[in-house]
Amino acid sequence: MSENLFCYTGRVLRVNLTTNSFRIEETRRDFIERYIGGRGLGIRYLLEEVPPKIDPLSPENKIIVSTGPLTGTIAPLSGRYPIITKSPLSYTVCDSYSGSYFGVRMKYAGYDLLIVEGRAEKPVYVEVTEKGAEFHDAGKLWGLGTLETSKHIKEELGDENASVLAIGPAGENLVRFASVVDSGLWVHGRGGAGAVFGSKNLKALAIKNIKGEVKLYDPDGFRKVVVELTRNRVKTSENLWAQTDGTPLIVDLSHNTGVLPTYGFTSGAFEHHDKINTDRVKEATAKKYACPYCPLACKRILKFNSRLVKSPEYETLAMIGSNTGIKSLREVAEAAEIATDLGMDTISLGATIGFTVKLYEKGLITEKELNGLKPSWSSPEFVIGLSKMIAYRRGFGSLLAEGTRRTAEKIGGEALKERLDVKGSEIPAYDPRGTYGMALAYATADRGACHLRAWAVAYDAFGEMDPYSFTGKAKLVKELQDLNSIKWSLVICDFWLSSYEDMAKLLKPALGRDYTVDELKIIGERIWNISRIFNVREGFKREDDILPPKMFYEPLRGGKTDGKTVDINQFKESLIEYYKLRGWDEETGEPTKETLEKLGAE
Ligand code: SF4
Repeated sequence: MSENLFCYTGRVLRVNLTTNSFRIEETRRDFIERYIGGRGLGIRYLLEEVPPKIDPLSPENKIIVSTGPLTGTIAPLSGRYPIITKSPLSYTVCDSYSGSYFGVRMKYAGYDLLIVEGRAEKPVYVEVTEKGAEFHDAGKLWGLGTLETSKHIKEELGDENASVLAIGPAGENLVRFASVVDSGLWVHGRGGAGAVFGSKNLKALAIKNIKGEVKLYDPDGFRKVVVELTRNRVKTSENLWAQTDGTPLIVDLSHNTGVLPTYGFTSGAFEHHDKINTDRVKEATAKKYACPYCPLACKRILKFNSRLVKSPEYETLAMIGSNTGIKSLREVAEAAEIATDLGMDTISLGATIGFTVKLYEKGLITEKELNGLKPSWSSPEFVIGLSKMIAYRRGFGSLLAEGTRRTAEKIGGEALKERLDVKGSEIPAYDPRGTYGMALAYATADRGACHLRAWAVAYDAFGEMDPYSFTGKAKLVKELQDLNSIKWSLVICDFWLSSYEDMAKLLKPALGRDYTVDELKIIGERIWNISRIFNVREGFKREDDILPPKMFYEPLRGGKTDGKTVDINQFKESLIEYYKLRGWDEETGEPTKETLEKLGAE
C-alpha cells in the first residue's frame, strides 16, 4: 500500500463461501478517486463484479460491506456504514445502513471493503480478523433469532463486545425484505440483504472488538476541525431534535400534516397518534445509546415495568403502529422487537400487514389461507401472528414473503389497486398524497421507494413549500440525492444536516486533499448516476419511475389531507423536469453518454 493513502487501509477482504477461502487485495485507487468510499465505492464494485440480470438470491450476487474515509475517525456522526447488494425485493441496487460497530472495527482490522461471494454448502458464520477470515460452523445457530445468534457467537468468540451481523428465520427462509441485525440494536433494514445472506447459507458476519486507528494526513488539524464543527455545526438548534427526541418527534408532525400512513395507507392522520408519539417515548426512556462517534445519541432503550425494549424509530412507529392501527407504544415496541428478532424490515413488514387487512376487507383472502388468523386493525396479536407466518413462510405468509407487489400480481384484479410499492419496494412512512416532494423522491429513488435518498417532506409538508405542487421539487429532489450520495460515501449520518462545505473541511486534514464544493457536487452526481446505470442495466426504464396507482386514484380520508391524491399529470411533468436536470434521456430515463462523460462516470 502506498504511504500517502490517508484514511483508507488500501485493502479489500474478499471471502468466497463456495471455496471456504479468502484473499486480501488492494482497494482500487481509481475507484476511491472517483467514488470516495461507502455508498459510492461499494456500488462501483457491485457494478463491476455482479453480472447483469442475475438472480439476487443466486451465488453470483455479492454482499459488500463498505466503509468510508471518515469511518473509524473521530469525525462526528461517522459511525454508520452500508451493506450493498442487488436487492431480492426490488432487483435494483441496494445500500442499507446501520450504526453497528462492525464498520469501524472492519476499518481497524485493516479493510476498506469486505466482499462476500459464492454460497456455502452448509450454514456458516464468518469471522473477520486482521489476518483475513475464519469460517465457523453455524449449523446449530440455524433457526435462531437475530438476538440469540449474536449472543451465541459472542460467547463462542469469547468477546461479549464483538459485533455480529446476523440474520433470523426470515433471512434463512429468503423473505425478500429480510434484514441484517447486530445485537437487536442496529438494523440494516431495507432491501432484503438478510435474504441474500440466507441464500448464501451465511448466518452471520462477526468481528471482535478490534481497536485501532485511522491514519490521518494532519491529525492535529483534523481534531481542531472536529471540535469546531461539533460545536458550531452539529450541536446546533437545527440538529438538536436528534438529541432531545430522535425520530419519534416526526409522529406528530406527520399526523398534523396528514402524511402519517394509517390503516393501510387509508388516511394520513391517526386518532391515537398521541399514544405512540415522542412524549410517550420520552416517558418510557430508560437510557440512550449512539452509533460510534456520535455526540447526538438519538437512540433509546425503553422500559415497560422491568422489561427493556429498543425504542422504535419513527418509521416503525408509523408502519407497525398507525399503519396497522396499533395504539400503544408498548405494543408497537414489542411487535417491532419480535420482527427484528425474526429479521425483517419493519417498513416493508408494516406495509405488508396493512395490505393484508385491506385484501381481507375486500374479500380477496380468507382466514383459512391465514391458518385461522383473523385480519383486523389495532390488533397486536394479528401483527405478531402474521409476522411469524411471513418469517416462516407459513400458508399465505409464504406469498407475502415475496413482497406486496408479487402478492398483488399473483392475486390480480382488485388486489392490484392495493399495490404499495415503487420498483417492488414498499413505500415508507410519508404518504406521498400529502407531500409531492416525497412522491418524486420515491419514484426516482434508486433502491425502490425510499425516504432517505431525498427527505423532501422536510421542505414541503413540514416546511415552506406547497406540499400539493411539484413546483421546485425536481431540483430539490436531485440536489438532496446528490448531497446524500456524498454523505453516505464519507460516511456521515444524514441526521447531521451537514453541508458540502462541512464535508470539504473534514476531508482536507483527513486526506490532505482540498476538495472544492463543486468537486464534491460532481462526485455526488456521479455516484447517483452509477446507481442509475446499475438499474438501467437490470432493465429498469422510465415507466418504473412511478408510484403505485392508489396514490394517483384513491383519495386519502380524514385529517389535513382529506380527499388528496397525487396529480398524475403534474407528476409526469415533474419527472421530465427531473430527467432534464439530470441530463438523462426524457424517453428512456437513461443517463446520456454526454452526461456520463461530463461527470467522469465510466
Ligand atoms: S444521529 Fe442517531 S442514527 Fe445518526 S449517527 Fe447519531 S446515534 Fe446514529
